Amino acid sequence: MTKRAPRARAPIALDAPVERLKGVGPALAEAMAPRGLVTVEDLLWFVPRRYDDARAIAPLAEAIAAADGDRIALRGRIASARLVFVRRKRWAEVKIVDGPHGVLVRWFNVYGGVEKRFPVGASIAIAGLVRRKGARIEMANPDVLAIAPGNPGPDPGPGPDLVLDLGPDPDPGPESVPVSDPGPGPVPVDVAARIVPRYSEVRGVPPAKLASAIAAALAAVGDELDDGVPAALAARTGGSIAAAVRALHAPPAELAADDVLALNAGTHAWQRRLVWGELFVLGAAVALRRRARRDERAPACPRTVGFAAELARALPFALTGAQARAIDELAVELGREIPMSRLVQGDVGAGKTAVAFAAALQVARAGHQVAIMVPTELVAAQHHATIAAWAAPLGLAVGLVTGSQARAERAAITAAIAAGEIAIVVGTHALIGEGVGFARLGLAIVDEQHRFGVAQRLRLREAAALTPHLLVMTATPIPRTLALTAYGDLDVTVLDELPPGRTPARTEILRGKVGRLRAYERVRARLAHGERAFVVCPLVEEGPDVPARADRAKAKRADATAIAAELTALLAPARVGLVHGRVSAAERAAVMGAFARGDLEVLVATTVVEVGVDVPAATVMVVEDADGFGLAQLHQLRGRVGRGGQQAWCLLLARGAATGSDGDRRLATVAATTDGFQIAEDDLAMRGPGELLGARQAGAPRLRFGDLRQHTALLVEARAAAEAILAEDPALAAPAYAGLRLALARRLARAEAFGADGG
Ligand code: ADP
Ligand code: MG
Repeated sequence: MTKRAPRARAPIALDAPVERLKGVGPALAEAMAPRGLVTVEDLLWFVPRRYDDARAIAPLAEAIAAADGDRIALRGRIASARLVFVRRKRWAEVKIVDGPHGVLVRWFNVYGGVEKRFPVGASIAIAGLVRRKGARIEMANPDVLAIAPGNPGPDPGPGPDLVLDLGPDPDPGPESVPVSDPGPGPVPVDVAARIVPRYSEVRGVPPAKLASAIAAALAAVGDELDDGVPAALAARTGGSIAAAVRALHAPPAELAADDVLALNAGTHAWQRRLVWGELFVLGAAVALRRRARRDERAPACPRTVGFAAELARALPFALTGAQARAIDELAVELGREIPMSRLVQGDVGAGKTAVAFAAALQVARAGHQVAIMVPTELVAAQHHATIAAWAAPLGLAVGLVTGSQARAERAAITAAIAAGEIAIVVGTHALIGEGVGFARLGLAIVDEQHRFGVAQRLRLREAAALTPHLLVMTATPIPRTLALTAYGDLDVTVLDELPPGRTPARTEILRGKVGRLRAYERVRARLAHGERAFVVCPLVEEGPDVPARADRAKAKRADATAIAAELTALLAPARVGLVHGRVSAAERAAVMGAFARGDLEVLVATTVVEVGVDVPAATVMVVEDADGFGLAQLHQLRGRVGRGGQQAWCLLLARGAATGSDGDRRLATVAATTDGFQIAEDDLAMRGPGELLGARQAGAPRLRFGDLRQHTALLVEARAAAEAILAEDPALAAPAYAGLRLALARRLARAEAFGADGG
């Protein structure tokens, strides 16, 4: 049952351009497009951000008692209105009174017409946040619920519900649109006894026009909306999506006050219905990807006779129980033709390299090649050295591919890889670059540390005719929510045991100049025992290439070059080395080598050190301006010390007293626990999945309604529902799943268009 917009001649489809709607002209359509409001359906999904309960508008005399920060709706009479200019800024200043009481209201970014818009003597209803100034209250940029010239009391008539007939569409032009525009002249809206939906601002689109366009869209196609959740699930999800979306745009007037509160908290059943649908489609997408992989074929690489003896000969230590279990688990999967997709999670220092080596050995002995991709050149060099040393007694050829290699060297190595002469290749992203082609890639290993480069790992996989097995290693455990989404198609192995002789580092937060001096006293004391220290700084030095905007923030931070100079004096006769991003790869390798050998006792570094260097004699990690680092980074850094069996320290320096900032919370978390899983969960809670995973390529699914932190339970439920459907109808052939098929296709299209992954 499709209702039709009054002006439309042909029925409007969900995917019709917004211009088909009454009151939406080309100018308005153009202003909407950048916000993704292109089709009529887009408007339906643009649900309100907030609701004002206009039924609860209080007389100013009552509202005046509200506390600072309260959100209130009040009415009164306009006593004065003027435009104020102060130092290139301007705002409308309106005094609203009610008997002896008054409130001063400011609207910023208003461009003229103030006296006309706020006629003195008119009665006005507004809603917004209260700022208390002693006995008085003020408000900034409140929403105007109604203005009625010279008429106090609410208008008794029913008024046009939501659909505001604003006549033809005069192009407003962005200049003329204040943040809270009550429209040109007094707005003849009756808001009494109504819950007023408030939408996010769309630049160049007056709120009233947006609301009326959405109302027109609802009237035209509101009942056709489908998010892919089959009707059979309606009972479990709380009704149809069309009903939920309609109610969100036009809440019934009799809605309970608690419902309004829930709506404003984002927890109402209608909102959860939207989240459910979104997570359901995400779950279905992940499950489908996982199933598709089952149809691919990988080279079967079963263990060869003598594997265990060879591994024992190669490694300089006995495996931990966890390592042995992980290696056996991988062995079974590597022996099959089904491509393995496995994530090995193990805290920093758990010994993932040995696990990777064992898998590589098995595959190499089965006659296939192995690619090991790592995030930086430094780590590539170190892994290459480690693995080449282990492989040497077995006669396995190990190669290195990095971006900074000389041409001739690079040509030689790529030729050897293409000829199948090199069994194990360690490298950076250069591994998936131009010109590197494997003769028979059997296993791709991605050592991601805490960077989640989903895109890269997929590209490495695409390179071969047979799908190589895939092993992803990460040091920061992945919170369950992300494991279900971004990593939803990977099986997980956990290395939950550290090699023997590890003592967790003692973590201390030291503040101010005094704290800093105490930290370096500790360093001096450890150096006297023949131990070594890392000092990590957030920034190299002030220079012309530091972006101007970041200048001021960065100027206050520690500078690695200056600190290296300072410590050379302070810690003499200890020898202090310096590595940072602008040092050439060769020089960096030389300095790192000197530190590893003990020719340098102190290494001052920017974060390059965080990903994977291994110096067992290092017992102290000093982190300058530690409150500027991320949780996962700090945890990684701490994992760099305490590998030699002695007590280790992680000294986190902060400049001022604790203020309860995010940085302080991160420090407190790291000081409180060494449990990587706990830290990963806290990291997710503090930063959210997008940031946790890094930028766009990272694989955080883009969600419009859902929030992975808040909706874990919903995610699990929706995903289980999606999997149950796929188990029964893998092709989603039943007519009941037509909507789901469409939703999946769209999700994919959106992911391709915006580079989002995880679906
Ligand atoms: P991860 O990559 O998990 O952070 P690594 O593979 O770099 O850890 O191992 C950390 C350190 O522990 C290395 O010095 C490695 O040689 C050592 N190591 C690994 N496994 C064992 C083990 N079973 N026994 C003793 N030392 C080990
Ligand atoms: Mg490692």
